[in-house]
Amino acid sequence: MPPKRSTLLGRKQARTQIDDQRARQGASRAAESPEQRQTRLGDQRGRQASSRHAESSEQRQTRLGSLRARQAASRAVETPEQRRTRSEDQRRRQAASRAVHWTFMEGEAFRYYPANNYDSHPQLHIGQMTDVCSYCDALKWPGEVPGMCCSGGKVRLPALRPPPEPLKSLMSGDPSVLCDIPDR
Ligand SMILES: [Zn+2]
Repeated sequence: MPPKRSTLLGRKQARTQIDDQRARQGASRAAESPEQRQTRLGDQRGRQASSRHAESSEQRQTRLGSLRARQAASRAVETPEQRRTRSEDQRRRQAASRAVHWTFMEGEAFRYYPANNYDSHPQLHIGQMTDVCSYCDALKWPGEVPGMCCSGGKVRLPALRPPPEPLKSLMSGDPSVLCDIPDR
C-alpha cells in the first residue's frame, strides 16, 4: 500500500525544515569571527563531553558502532585524493595531540643535558603575550584559545576596586613609600 498523502507531505515538510535549518546554520557560521568559532566549538566539546560522561556502556557501544559504520561508508566512496588528504589530516592531528600531551618530552627531566637550550624548543617556546582579546582586553599568548578569558565576551567582571594604602602607593612605583619600610 502506498504511503498516505498526509505522511508524504509530513516527510516533505520535515525535509524542507532540515534544509532551511542547514542553510541558516551555514550562513551564521560563515559570518562568525575566528573567536566566535573557537567559542562555539569549545561549547560543543563541553556539551559532548558531559553527554558522553552520562552515557551507559551500552549507549557508548551503540554510538561507537554507528560512528564506525558511518566512517566505513564514507571511506568506501572516497577518491584516492580524498584518502590522501584524510591520512595527512589524521597525521597532523596525531602530531598535535602528541605535542599537547608532551610525550615528545617524556622522561627528558631524567636525561637533562645542560647544553640543550630547552627554552628555545619550538614546542616549548610560547612567545610573548602579544594578542589582545577584542572583548575584555586580556593579554594573551598567540597560541591561546580565544574563548579562554571571557568566553568570547559572555563573561563580564566588574572593574577591580583600587587597592588600599600602602599597597596602592607601592604598586604605583612611588619611591618615597620605600623609605617608610623599616629595615627589619
Ligand atoms: Zn576576553
